[in-house]
Amino acid sequence: MRTISQRVAGFGTTIFVEINDLARAHGAVNLGQGAPDFDGPPQVLAAAVDAVNSALNQYAPGIGLPAARAAIAQHAQRFYGQILNPDTDVLVTAGATEGVFAAILGLTDPGDEVIVFEPVYDTYVPNLVMAGVSPRYVPMRGDDWSFDADELARAFNPRTRAIIVNTPHNPTGKVYSREELKTIAELCQKYDTLAITDEVYEHILYDDTVHTRLATLPGMADRTVTISTLGKTFSVTGWKIGWALGPSALVNAVNQAHQFITYAVATPLQAAAATALKLPSEFFKNLQADYQARRDVMVKALQHAGFKVFKPHGSYFVMVDWRSVAPKHVEDDIQFAQWLIREVGVACIPPSAFYRESDKYLGKYLARFAVCKKDETLRAAAEKLAKLGKY
Ligand code: GLN
Repeated sequence: MRTISQRVAGFGTTIFVEINDLARAHGAVNLGQGAPDFDGPPQVLAAAVDAVNSALNQYAPGIGLPAARAAIAQHAQRFYGQILNPDTDVLVTAGATEGVFAAILGLTDPGDEVIVFEPVYDTYVPNLVMAGVSPRYVPMRGDDWSFDADELARAFNPRTRAIIVNTPHNPTGKVYSREELKTIAELCQKYDTLAITDEVYEHILYDDTVHTRLATLPGMADRTVTISTLGKTFSVTGWKIGWALGPSALVNAVNQAHQFITYAVATPLQAAAATALKLPSEFFKNLQADYQARRDVMVKALQHAGFKVFKPHGSYFVMVDWRSVAPKHVEDDIQFAQWLIREVGVACIPPSAFYRESDKYLGKYLARFAVCKKDETLRAAAEKLAKLGKY
C-alpha cells in the first residue's frame, strides 16, 4: 500500500519540531523557534474573549471579517500610505504561511519559475514544489547578506513568474535597503513578473532601520502581493491570523486558492485583529524599544560568549558564526545545535535548513538564536552561554 505521495515524501520534518523536541528532552533554554514566551497585549486578548462571548463563533466571510479587512487596509495606509479597498484588495489568511502558499497556488502555473533568496524561509520551497513550480535560488553572502545584482538579473528569464522577498528577513535579520528593492523592482518590470513579499517582521526593527514595502516602489503596486500577520507584531503566533493585500486582480487570484484551502479563518480572532491593528502609535514604539533591548542583550551575550555575531537590523533573530566557540569534534551547524542543547543547555536553529542541498555549506558554520523571549529567559540563556569559554 502506498502511504505517502511523491509530492511530500522528500520533505522530512520541519527543523522547528526537531529542535523543540530535543530542547524539551534536555530542558534547554529554547531560543530556537521564533515564538514569544510572553503573551500579547491584554486589550487584544480581551477583544478575542469578548468576540467569543458575543456570538462571533461561526464562519467569517471567506475573504475575512469586514472589520478585520478594514483594519488591515487602515494599517497599510497608516504605515505605508497605501490606499486599499478593504472589500477587494485585502484577504485574511490562516497566518502568513497560508498567505504565501495561497499566493503561490493562485498566481503560478506548473512549469513556472519563482526566484527566492537564500537562506530561504523553510516553507517557500516546499510550497513551490507542491505547486509544481521550480525555485531559482539567489544566494545572499557576506556579513551584510547582500546579493549580487548581476546574479539576480541572471536568475530572471522568460519562465520567471514571481520573486519572493522576505524583509525583514528570517533567518538573517537583514532588512532590504531601498536600493536593493529598487533593483528587484526594475527586474520585475523588465521581465513582467510578480512579487510576493513576506513582511511579517515589519514592526520588529533595530537601530532606526526603516522597513520599505516593495509594493510602494514605482511600478510595483500593480504586481505585488504583500503578506503579513498579526502573530509577530502582537505576540500571538498561535492565532494564525495573516493577510494578503494588493491589487484586486491578484488578491482575487490568491482567494481562488484560499477558498479551497481554509475557506475562512477564525472569526473571533479576526475581530481581535481589528482591535490590535488600531492600537495607538505608542504600542508600536514600545514594541520596537522592547525588541531593541532584547536584541542588545542577546548580541552582547553572544559576543561575550565568543561568537562572531551578525547584528540584525530587524526580525526576531540573531545569526552567529559558531566556529570560535565550538569544540573540534563539532563539524556542522546541526551538530553544533545538538551539542549546544546537550552540553550548554541552550537551543538554537541550525540554518542549513534554510539552504538547498548544494548550498548547505553556506549555512554550515551558522546558528540562529531567537530574541523574542522574556528578560528572564534571555538572562538564563546568557548565563549558560557565558560558560562557553571553557570548551
Ligand atoms: N517562523 C518561525 C521561526 O522561524 C517558525 C514557525 C514554525 O515553527 N513553522 O522560528
